[in-house]
Amino acid sequence: AGAASLALTLSACGQNSSGGSKEKSSSAKGGTIGIAMPTKSSERWIADGNNVVKNLQSKGYKTKLVYGEDDPDTQVSQIENLITQGVKGLIIAAIDNKSLNNVLQEAADANIPVIAYDRLILGTKNVSYYASFDNTKVGVLQGTYIVHKLGLDSGKKGPFNLELFAGSNDDNNTKYFFNGAMSVLQPYIDKKELVVKSGQTALNKVTTLRWDGTTAQKRMEDILTSSYKSGKVDAVLSPYDGISIGIISALKSDGYGSSSQPLPVITGQDAELASVKSIIAGEQTQTVYKDTRQLAKVASTMIDDVLNKKTPQVNDDKTYDNGSKVVPAYLLQPVSVDKSNYEDVLVKGGYYTEADLK
Ligand code: BGC
Repeated sequence: AGAASLALTLSACGQNSSGGSKEKSSSAKGGTIGIAMPTKSSERWIADGNNVVKNLQSKGYKTKLVYGEDDPDTQVSQIENLITQGVKGLIIAAIDNKSLNNVLQEAADANIPVIAYDRLILGTKNVSYYASFDNTKVGVLQGTYIVHKLGLDSGKKGPFNLELFAGSNDDNNTKYFFNGAMSVLQPYIDKKELVVKSGQTALNKVTTLRWDGTTAQKRMEDILTSSYKSGKVDAVLSPYDGISIGIISALKSDGYGSSSQPLPVITGQDAELASVKSIIAGEQTQTVYKDTRQLAKVASTMIDDVLNKKTPQVNDDKTYDNGSKVVPAYLLQPVSVDKSNYEDVLVKGGYYTEADLK
């Protein structure tokens, strides 16, 4: 997406934040909350950061928002700086889920509570709460979409050729997405109604470091060269829109995308602008929409509650064991979006305007 469309997205995802400036502030006024986000290279995190800032400001806090450019060491030193600057609380979307133990000990020593944002932080008890989406459900929605779109759930037998992609191996969400999808796909693989010609089905064979679209594009190219001298790809499990865009590039370079050789079913996640446009144009098939406005609101309320000695609302206190503790979580619901419902969900829901999607 070009700069202009990114700017549009940001205003679309930001200005409609449901945080609301009318909300009464019951909070410790004047304190600063540090917000550490992973990268500006994906729209969703920019919208997340802006929405968290907006929510916290409406509760009377100051904010310091930093982006780690997908480099774990950078994120660690950014958080160290925030602690030195005397923040009262931290909201962190980790780049590498295991790299934050020492810095979170420093936060604990300074009595700074931490909310894990979207991605669980592993191996430390110094995480108070976790705000995210139902990550298993994200994968289930992707797997179910593939099965449905191919007609496997209504009696078609295949075999259809499927290739699998997963997210970054240092992101705790990755295995939830993948296992959720495989819970739906594996029975069809077992029955040989879905065939993974590359043979790459284990999670550690299909991850994509830092969710990088170019890395995924390269892997798709390699798979096409090595495993599709004959036959065609019917479906690709992609965990994230930026990866889907890379996969589509590889497929188009290989001749897919014409009426004689249509693109396969390709899933995604985040409803990023470029991918929603791709869905409208009939290239990417599906995405999983996660309303970052809601997530920002949940996380901001959590840190405000903790600082005010109130117990935050959670709806899951079993799933997210980080190795040191089970982190109480509030999980929001993801929604499958394709050409048939993007208007209802994304436009009527105020996430994008019609103009954004032109
Ligand atoms: C998030 C996804 C996102 C991915 C890449 C994951 O941790 O849950 O929404 O697509 O990171 O940024």
